[in-house]
Amino acid sequence: MQESLRQQYLTAMGIPIWLPRQLTEPSSAETSLMANSNATAELTHQTSQDTIQLLSWEDLQTRVSACQLCSLAKTRQHTVFGMGNPQAKLVIVGEAPGATEDQQGLPFVGRAGKLLDAMLQAINLQRSEIFITNILKCRPPNNRDPDPQEVACCTPYLERQLQLLQPRLLLALGRIAAHFLLNSTTTLSRLRGQQFHYGTQRIPLLVTYHPAYLLRSPQDKDKAYQDLLLVRSLLQ
Ligand code: URA
Repeated sequence: MQESLRQQYLTAMGIPIWLPRQLTEPSSAETSLMANSNATAELTHQTSQDTIQLLSWEDLQTRVSACQLCSLAKTRQHTVFGMGNPQAKLVIVGEAPGATEDQQGLPFVGRAGKLLDAMLQAINLQRSEIFITNILKCRPPNNRDPDPQEVACCTPYLERQLQLLQPRLLLALGRIAAHFLLNSTTTLSRLRGQQFHYGTQRIPLLVTYHPAYLLRSPQDKDKAYQDLLLVRSLLQ
């Protein structure tokens, strides 16, 4: 992860970042206190991330369902871990649960989910063959965009899911998922149609439009279909 992005997430999580003072030199006692408290905060953050990286699939599900790491825990009805086949070759990553998903604890079960099912059927894929999850496991109120603190808290869960799933292909749905997985700010229309790789596992990654966007902009369904054909061909 880029240093600037890491610092943004640490700041959002209330974890102080130690930077050398430019103007006045701190006393050696001050320096050592500051260094200790920052080291402790970093260590706590790192330790919780490290333990997530050791969890089994079942323990990861339990950890997510009890998660209190960010304020979304106060407003959610259910966490949404994901659904589908843990042996899936294809993992689809959306943004965050919406109202219906929050009620049911399952991803993509509202109107956008119905369209996603139709998109999958168009390339002969069933939900039972793939795994679907989101960057955030809890619904942001009023479906607002995820904020950096929420993303930072949830990232280790998605990372562990992907380590355990080891898919052959990832499909990012929409701008938020694509920007997060690719650490990019390029427009979605430029990102779609080409193959990228995610993380140290170098999982092949494609990007397409979010079905909620396609409900508002059906003129782009043709392009989404082209993206899905690419998905199909990479899976074969
Ligand atoms: N939109 C998403 O990105 N994810 C869901 O699970 C539902 C709607």
